[in-house]
Amino acid sequence: MTKIVKANILSFDIEEWFHVSNFEKYIKDNEWDSLEHRVNIGTDFFLKVLEENNIVGTFFMVGWVAERNERMVERISQAGHEVGIHGYAHKCITDQTPEEFEVDIKRAIEIVGGITGKPVRGYRAPSYTITPDTAWAIDTLKNNGIEYDTSLYPTSFNPNYGFPNSPRFPFKFENGLYEFPMSTFRAIGGNLPFASGTYFRLAPYFFTDLMMRILNGVGEYFTINIHPWEMDPDQKKIETGWYDNFKHYTNLRYNRGKFEKFARAFRFTTFDDYLKNYDFPTYRLNNGTFELV
Ligand SMILES: [Zn+2]
Repeated sequence: MTKIVKANILSFDIEEWFHVSNFEKYIKDNEWDSLEHRVNIGTDFFLKVLEENNIVGTFFMVGWVAERNERMVERISQAGHEVGIHGYAHKCITDQTPEEFEVDIKRAIEIVGGITGKPVRGYRAPSYTITPDTAWAIDTLKNNGIEYDTSLYPTSFNPNYGFPNSPRFPFKFENGLYEFPMSTFRAIGGNLPFASGTYFRLAPYFFTDLMMRILNGVGEYFTINIHPWEMDPDQKKIETGWYDNFKHYTNLRYNRGKFEKFARAFRFTTFDDYLKNYDFPTYRLNNGTFELV
């Protein structure tokens, strides 16, 4: 029986505004260095709000960003936050071979661990792309010293990612890797995703607040993930299709105030604290389905 506990965990995927998967078809990798780097703007805002509210969070660094912003990574780590990785080049795992994926995470681990001087324990996949097709990544992570992952999205709501059969609460894979699935809200017809920045930004504040209160009220675990570019309303606007534009730019102007309110309203713990204090059921993954061991 899965042990369900009340715990809210705040995390941030630290990437540049042009790393967003929706922009891949508009901005090529070799253009990155020539674009304005703005990751400090949102990241400094997060650090300020966390300090004001006495909250510790987890920052998953894109390796490419870390090697260009060493001082920023040091400041995050020195403020007592946990620093994990979000890949080196922000490539979806679904677009990589197992060999390419291993090279990518090794490079990110080396860069980030080299800056903080601490072991890199946590990983989040770009666009949550550990899916039934890329489940091989679970062994690659463990074999490279990663202790926990937080990439599985237990939903079939989005066509680009999702591990629909994943447990909704933290568990352990048979290989010993801990998993913190992205939070969903159980509804008729499936699990609705609402733990990622896009949903936080698009939904009115009262909706997120209500969902949190319901989950916390029944003692459920919750994690949310936000990006620095979502706190930077003055970033350069890229003309994309209406749908990508809608997803990226809607409510950017109001998001800082919303995040400040959210950080004041709830209490948060860290992945590290959760690992120390709670039990994890072990699951065996068998052809995309999970069996309790
Ligand atoms: Zn990302």
